[in-house]
Amino acid sequence: MYKVKIDGIETEVNPGTTILSVANQEFVEIPTLCYNENVEPRGACRMCTVEVEVWGRKRLVTACNYPIQADIVIDTQSERVKKLRRLILEVLLARTPDSPRIKELAEKYGVKQPRFNLEKTHDNCIVCGLCVQACKDIVGVSAIGLSERGIFRKPITPYEESSHTCIGCGSCVYICPTDAISMVDKDGKRYFERWKTEFKLVGCESCGTHFATDVQIEYFKKVMGKDDPSLHFCPNCLVLKETKK
Ligand code: SF4
Repeated sequence: MYKVKIDGIETEVNPGTTILSVANQEFVEIPTLCYNENVEPRGACRMCTVEVEVWGRKRLVTACNYPIQADIVIDTQSERVKKLRRLILEVLLARTPDSPRIKELAEKYGVKQPRFNLEKTHDNCIVCGLCVQACKDIVGVSAIGLSERGIFRKPITPYEESSHTCIGCGSCVYICPTDAISMVDKDGKRYFERWKTEFKLVGCESCGTHFATDVQIEYFKKVMGKDDPSLHFCPNCLVLKETKK
């Protein structure tokens, strides 16, 4: 076990525990954007940066992917941290001025008007890559990727055309921290404007509610190696069926 002091709170943790886990455990708030417990943390957005002191040496690290490997003192509110946090938010606010999530964080951390005059994008995407990571690591289809470099970098489908590998599950929509991907279910179809992709929706055999795309069901059949009865019912009816057993 290692001794940890986080914002003055003392505790002990197992080797490899991340700073963010300790913070959550001790109810110390560290802002995050690209962190999601279902995918490998990469510290891409840098929002969770904190200051640590190990072996008498201080430095800034990202809390989500920093494994504790020695006794450590963590400061989530040091002047260096606050300055960097505000700088990151200034850049994000300058780039995505319409994003409610970025505006909310900017206000919370005292950023009003960004000093930078950067190329703006009005689609709320902060290019954190979480949607790309989820599509690859959770769904396993890699239907999207990050394009180009610098200010033109953005998540796209191959050649920015309708993707042949996308199953229309919507994982990218649910995981995006800034609601930058829209998914519309209407008239038996599901449409993703950002991916220029449309799917046919499948109805639950019990209540008729549309609950998945036809491509998604076929994909799950392939992954499970069979036409499982669970693939014919919406989550609600599935729970009802299970409780009646
Ligand atoms: S669409 Fe959302 S999840 Fe994907 S890169 Fe942009 S902000 Fe991140």
